[in-house]
Amino acid sequence: MSKQLIAGNWKMNGSLAANQALLSALAAGASGATCQVAVCVPAPYLAQVQGLLTGTAVAWGAQDVSQHEAGAFTGEVSAGMLREFAVRYCLVGHSERRQYHGETDALVASKAQRALAAGITPIVCVGETLAEREAGRTEEVVKRQLAAVIHTNGHCISEIVVAYEPVWAIGTGKTASPEEAQHVHAVLRSQLQAATTHPERVLILYGGSMNAANAAQLLSQPDIDGGLVGGASLKAPDFLSIVAAAR
Ligand code: PEP
Repeated sequence: MSKQLIAGNWKMNGSLAANQALLSALAAGASGATCQVAVCVPAPYLAQVQGLLTGTAVAWGAQDVSQHEAGAFTGEVSAGMLREFAVRYCLVGHSERRQYHGETDALVASKAQRALAAGITPIVCVGETLAEREAGRTEEVVKRQLAAVIHTNGHCISEIVVAYEPVWAIGTGKTASPEEAQHVHAVLRSQLQAATTHPERVLILYGGSMNAANAAQLLSQPDIDGGLVGGASLKAPDFLSIVAAAR
């Protein structure tokens, strides 16, 4: 079993000065971590992050990638460009991208493919809305979202990370109970088992209001392999407490 992964998602937050303080604290605080640690930052900060985190225990990633290789796509950032900053991870299909930018399952699958082709591990986010959960459609929704990525990426699927993020739990302070999260993780695990001969390589993270108080219980579930952490990743002590709760 691989080490758990705790990945921060800074979303559209940060400044050169604030990042410097946060990254220095993370680099120092994560030096003895028993789990894997990463931060997914806004693209303009990748050079700064690479400069401050190279040689530390903290890896870094981006929050989105273009489905195109290069060309007339104003505002987009390609996987090749991300690779030049030595990013290890890239979020794809975060619910804020699906919701505010109309990203479809097929687009998310293409983005994952671009990342993989550039040697970047996509962290593929899946999750149901509150309405979908209340309609009893949670499993159907997350399986459909993951199936698109499996379909497009074939045998490379063992190289992805999956993040189960119930949309109703993101940034709301509401967390799926450890049992609710475990149930969905087990569903995703069996879907991956059917899709690859190396399902053990795929980490399945939980995301949605994970914090210092609830992390240990969530991370002790058998199919929860780490966390994708939004708000709590912006404060070093909070993020490091979650790192300390992981194995
Ligand atoms: C996220 O944005 O991926 C996330 C999980 O956010 P939060 O931890 O703030 O709910």
